[in-house]
Amino acid sequence: MSSDQVIIIGAGAAGLMCAISAAENGKTVLVLDHANKAGKKILISGGGRCNFTNMYTEPSNYLSANPHFCKSALKRYTQWDFIAEVDKAGLPWHEKKLGQLFSDNKSEAILNMLLDRCEELGVGIKLNCSIDKIEKNDDGIFSLTSNDNTDTCSSLVIATGAMSFPTMGATDFGHRVARQFGLKVTNTTPGLVPFTFDAKEKARFDGLSGVSIDTEITCGKQSFRENILFTHKGLSGPAVLQISSYWQPGDTITVCCLADVDLFGELKQHHQDSPNKHLINILKLHFPERVIEKFCAGHELNKPLQQYKHSELETIADLFQKWSFIPSGTEGYKKAEVTLGGVDTDEISSKTFEAKKVKGLYFIGEVLDVTGHLGGFNFQWAWASGFCCGQAV
Ligand SMILES: Cc1cc2nc3c(=O)[nH]c(=O)nc-3n(C[C@H](O)[C@H](O)[C@H](O)COP(=O)(O)OP(=O)(O)OC[C@H]3O[C@@H](n4cnc5c(N)ncnc54)[C@H](O)[C@@H]3O)c2cc1C
Repeated sequence: MSSDQVIIIGAGAAGLMCAISAAENGKTVLVLDHANKAGKKILISGGGRCNFTNMYTEPSNYLSANPHFCKSALKRYTQWDFIAEVDKAGLPWHEKKLGQLFSDNKSEAILNMLLDRCEELGVGIKLNCSIDKIEKNDDGIFSLTSNDNTDTCSSLVIATGAMSFPTMGATDFGHRVARQFGLKVTNTTPGLVPFTFDAKEKARFDGLSGVSIDTEITCGKQSFRENILFTHKGLSGPAVLQISSYWQPGDTITVCCLADVDLFGELKQHHQDSPNKHLINILKLHFPERVIEKFCAGHELNKPLQQYKHSELETIADLFQKWSFIPSGTEGYKKAEVTLGGVDTDEISSKTFEAKKVKGLYFIGEVLDVTGHLGGFNFQWAWASGFCCGQAV
């Protein structure tokens, strides 16, 4: 192949979309990946059914040091554009909740749709390919030395994602390439990740592993209304994953179970209307017994309501509705769905995804400092950045 081909490193969501977009634009495209299979994260995503986009995608669903950076690509390649591709391929899908669109079939259907299109367009995909060295000569040609060859190109796209879920082939390769070419990389941390408890909290909630509760969860000024899930190590579930992207070590997390109900108000009402009812039976209308036992440990609940003062009922209600804790940490990149931070967007054109200082070098997808909320937003970023870059290379 000639050096005016486009080489994309990373056969994930962003890389495959970029390959399709560039090939549709008449470019010769080669995709390299060190994994033995393309799109491994697509395969495991959405619990095996790929939450491939979100109907309500907006720039406000993304975290970045520059919240404006994502706007252009999200506008030029929208969720409706990707849905149109899925429809064209005849793949059935459904909205699970909150605009989250899932494949009716396994995630493989979405991956195969992308791979089939790559094949139709003559995109080359080389797997098991580890790149040892990237150099750029004075004529602007990149040369990539890998375990099996040296490939050259005038346009090089880095679509290698970041460090989350290393068992799926995730690496910091893209950040290293950025640094090699003098580009800044912002501080990175695991995002959309479960929290861990310290020994005290672990003992407090021991036995609740597997229990899920609808909550409003808050960290600083950010709140999410979704379920939390107790685990052996701490807390997970969609609400926790969402808020984890806003959490810094030492920050307090506040949890309100039953956010739609004024529990103290309800207990006061029962206190007045049915004073002989036992407190435990009112609480059981809302929570499983083992949750009540754990949350109210040390409190006597098996008495008629008339035997409680209002202040005691308020204390009990607060145990569920004003519960707070400081996570001891997170489960780290091993369990994180995404990496927060990445290649500094100040270094990159939001129109073309080319590095402003390095002609011909592009960065797309999760490798950049753009991270979506849970719910299909991260794939939408991969599709949008991949598509726009593919049009520009
Ligand atoms: C368990 C899990 C579930 C998820 N579910 C969803 C979901 O349902 N919806 C959603 O929107 N998002 C989901 N995400 C997030 C989503 O998968 C990512 O945001 C998205 O895959 C990022 O796309 P990308 O192409 O930038 O990177 P990736 O998809 O990670 O692709 C990067 C590619 O680069 C390759 N690569 C890495 N390093 C090298 C190297 N050194 N040399 C060569 N190749 C390399 C990798 O093998 C990989 O194929 C999930 C993530 C995880 C971990």
